[in-house]
Amino acid sequence: MRALVKSRPEPGLWMEEVPVPEPGPNEVLIRVGKSAICGTDVHIWNWDAWAAKTVPVPLVTGHEFSGVIADTGSAVSRFKPGQRVSGEGHITCGACRNCRAGRGHLCRNTLGVGVQRAGSFAEYLCLPESNVVPIPDDVPDEIAAIFDPFGNAVHTALSFDCVGEDVLVTGAGPIGIMGALVAQRAGARKVVITDINPTRLDLARKLGVPYAIDTSSEDLREVMARIGMTEGFDIGLEMSGAAPAFRQMIDLMNNGGKIAILGIAPTGFEIDWNKVIFKMLHLKGIYGREMYETWYKMIAFVQSGLDLTPLITHRLPIDEFEAGFAAMRKGEAGKVVLDWL
Ligand code: NAD
Ligand code: ZN
Repeated sequence: MRALVKSRPEPGLWMEEVPVPEPGPNEVLIRVGKSAICGTDVHIWNWDAWAAKTVPVPLVTGHEFSGVIADTGSAVSRFKPGQRVSGEGHITCGACRNCRAGRGHLCRNTLGVGVQRAGSFAEYLCLPESNVVPIPDDVPDEIAAIFDPFGNAVHTALSFDCVGEDVLVTGAGPIGIMGALVAQRAGARKVVITDINPTRLDLARKLGVPYAIDTSSEDLREVMARIGMTEGFDIGLEMSGAAPAFRQMIDLMNNGGKIAILGIAPTGFEIDWNKVIFKMLHLKGIYGREMYETWYKMIAFVQSGLDLTPLITHRLPIDEFEAGFAAMRKGEAGKVVLDWL
């Protein structure tokens, strides 16, 4: 089969012929229909320090996908060939304390599909049956292909009760935009998203985020006063991975505010810990999706009318993957979806 392989420890990904993986007894074989490109894939392409220490070479990459069951292992009971599916890309051990307590997202032995084991930038992908999520008929393939990052947004935005709260989302990348939309639908009063990239802010407005603010040219305190916020943000969703954005968030939180942090900073950075203490802020790190409550809620959001279609700015045949990665690297794309069929 054809697959995008990290076959050498240097920048790039290469389309190669590799064997079709064979499902073990508890695994299914999925014929991948659509693959989306994640920021993580760009790190793997670039072969930065994180990628070089995390990713074994050679490896089939990719973890955002949708497809159809092609074959099932001998012990698989829940799936049949032909079924439309997506799947959770964090493979958990099932044996650690958190796994056994039903908190798979806190597994201490998580392996990443397309990061530490063979991924979904391929015609076929093997996944444990327990990681596979059936996709209802009213959810389009391309939306199911971005469920992994949508799940990051849903997990982060639903970390705290949004009803009646004023929410600041820092970073209007695809995940920040989805997080803002989820907070809004979950009952937030004001939802403000920030970025320093005008294209990203335009995309946020196009999807209906009420206040999309360029903090390189606008004063966020003035915006808050203008929209009737007198105290500070109640909830922060950090989706930029940028230190200045996180510091600004801490400055603008109300006392007792709650911050969920998804963005990954490239290097360590300073914050004013005294503000965290004297404002009595709650900080919560977020990794991946809750298994599988986040998946349930994601599907429910789509089925209840949340339309993420405008977030997909590039649809390309798989042979044009280089153009897709180039669009991602420029930082101006929303989601890029590649078609294998
Ligand atoms: P992205 O890089 O597309 O978006 C980040 C956005 O932040 C960009 O639009 C950028 O212009 C903006 N930004 C930069 N400086 C800013 C500033 N000072 N103020 C406001 N915005 C600023 O990333 P994404 O794919 O949307 O993912 C969001 C973040 O979440 C990334 O940091 C990513 O690495 C991280 N992530 C974490 C997990 C996890 O499980 N914890 C999973 C997926 C992604
Ligand atoms: Zn575990």
